[in-house]
Amino acid sequence: MQGNSSFIIDAQFIAPPEGVMVKNYCFDGEPQFLSEQRVKPLKHFVIHETAGRTASRCKKTLISKKLGVHLILDRDGSVSCHGDLANETMSHANQLNKTSIGIEVINPYAPKYAKGMDIKTIPAEWWTWCPDKEDRRYVLPTDEQLVILLKIVPFLCKLLKIPYEFPTADLNKKKRKINGWQKEPGKKRAKPKAGIVAHRDFSGHSDGRYILEYLIAHSLSN
Ligand SMILES: [Zn+2]
Repeated sequence: MQGNSSFIIDAQFIAPPEGVMVKNYCFDGEPQFLSEQRVKPLKHFVIHETAGRTASRCKKTLISKKLGVHLILDRDGSVSCHGDLANETMSHANQLNKTSIGIEVINPYAPKYAKGMDIKTIPAEWWTWCPDKEDRRYVLPTDEQLVILLKIVPFLCKLLKIPYEFPTADLNKKKRKINGWQKEPGKKRAKPKAGIVAHRDFSGHSDGRYILEYLIAHSLSN
């Protein structure tokens, strides 16, 4: 059946790369999140992490807060699509809402939020938020999630004409956010150049950087 395992892009059902399963709101009963029609050019692919444990909780939270995100990537590597990637904008990325698509990667992020889960951690990096100050570790995304990200991010960038570039790659311990990201009187918040960015890079949030650096490392080695 057409539409079985597909992204929805410009009102068409688009089959994902080999080995990727995508559920969507037309065929699989996934929720369609609140959206507006896209009027500005699509320039950014924003990487999020939930700081929560499950996709079902993430969906409930987004719906109750009247937010949305185009894609959710669950711990087992399965993907769900919650809006038309080309034609709809959603509230997930502050000043980039109108010019982006977003993916939520289900990841508890901090060990504090992963109680009882089978997790791998690394010591905190410069970008890591540690809600428990005694436990300075970051919970890694699963291997299944990372494999799927390496398949779908380049695939979707090509289809949607988002440059496969990393405009915030230069951020580091000394320069942690893009210049002008904060709200200042009489000024608009700055935006990164077109490409793939972590939510934390241009906002007060803390998510997405590990995955961004993983994508950068793998784009250099290819
Ligand atoms: Zn986020």
